[in-house]
Amino acid sequence: TADELFERQRRRESSARSYPRRLPVALVEGSGSTVRDRHGTAYIDCLAGAGALALGHHHPVVVEAIRSVLDDGAPLSTLDLPSPTRDRFVETLFDALPEPMRTGKLLICGPTGADAVEAAVKLARTATARSGVLAFGGAYHGMTQGTLALTGRRSAKEALGPLLGEVHHLPFPTTYRSPFGADDTAAVAARLVEWALTDDHSGIAAPAAAVVEPVQGEGGVHPMPPAFASALRRSTRAAGTVLVADEVQTGLGRTGTLWAGDAVGLDPDVLVLSKAIGGGLPLAVVVHHGELDGWPAGSHAGTFRGSTPALAAGAATIREVRRAGLAEHAADVGHRLTTGLRTVSAGDARVGDVRGRGLMLGVEMVDPDTADPDGVPLPDGALAARVQAEMLGRGVIVEVGGAADAVVRFLPPLVLTAAEADQVVDAFGAALRATRG
Ligand code: PMP
Repeated sequence: TADELFERQRRRESSARSYPRRLPVALVEGSGSTVRDRHGTAYIDCLAGAGALALGHHHPVVVEAIRSVLDDGAPLSTLDLPSPTRDRFVETLFDALPEPMRTGKLLICGPTGADAVEAAVKLARTATARSGVLAFGGAYHGMTQGTLALTGRRSAKEALGPLLGEVHHLPFPTTYRSPFGADDTAAVAARLVEWALTDDHSGIAAPAAAVVEPVQGEGGVHPMPPAFASALRRSTRAAGTVLVADEVQTGLGRTGTLWAGDAVGLDPDVLVLSKAIGGGLPLAVVVHHGELDGWPAGSHAGTFRGSTPALAAGAATIREVRRAGLAEHAADVGHRLTTGLRTVSAGDARVGDVRGRGLMLGVEMVDPDTADPDGVPLPDGALAARVQAEMLGRGVIVEVGGAADAVVRFLPPLVLTAAEADQVVDAFGAALRATRG
């Protein structure tokens, strides 16, 4: 039974397990946007492998791509030696990249997003002969000691002692719960970046890199305002600082455009990709402008830098996302989902904000009886956890994140249908009612 699986997991696996604590389901089957537990109970999967399953579970093109690698007798790993599958992946990805990146260079870094962020920071440090890094409050870039240093969440790292040095955090211009109160959040944040990079009295040595998510994911689903994106591009270019866009979560259609940076005019020097580009298998890459090349051989190596099934699944996924117009679909269904979530939340003061882009959405739960100095009610993580549990009971898996874990997060496969989106809205509405009083 599921209980036995949980009990055995408790005995054998580390206390660092996280999802099983909030989502007590043992999943045995997945198809499209739906997963099933051992009793055959179906759930709409708004977690989708933490956003890795752009095409959902068992999409035929992904299954076929993996199967053909196995049937062809291709070597399962060639490290970074060339192979037909690797070549196909690289060409398919380049063809899909934002225009300015198509003449750039690519490094297949390893299995995880954190690997690729590490590589991007090392590359920027090497290329600029500088060491500092700008990062942002609320940021999430991974769990290695280098990427944790960039994380804008104190509690994730305060027990660990010194991490990567010379990291400076600036406020991310969130529009809800702005770090600047009622001010024009994008303009003030842009001024701060400019000040940090150019004013001698900022005390910050010219940084090698600025690392940023075009839409913060784990930090609570905060889209970057376009005015901030263009200002960040201008300031970093003027300061000779490499602008790194972490599109590990946003990349490949998730936010309603193929790349989230494109929608706001971020135009980075380095693009970090993982999750969806591996088609659900572990794969991460860094793409950068050609002038940053010249890294000595072996500068960022690793055993799993290009598993053949992952490269095949990734190429198939990139092709299918483009062929089926899934970025546009994510925009449409995301709009329907957002509208629905707003409608069922209307008049409920415990819903502070419904936000996001495409199929990367968040609903911030708040305690209406409280207020911060700007009059914004405080985040209510306990309520978000109850909503998550009630939604699970109604057949929808969601995650929570953001400040105090008070943001209910929706990260479904991009193939989510309108009918499934409506089911998610109904479950959220029912969860709201069930948690009243
Ligand atoms: N960057 C971003 C924006 C992410 O969302 C994540 C994972 N949630 C990572 C980096 C780290 O990726 P991984 O967990 O594969 O190391």
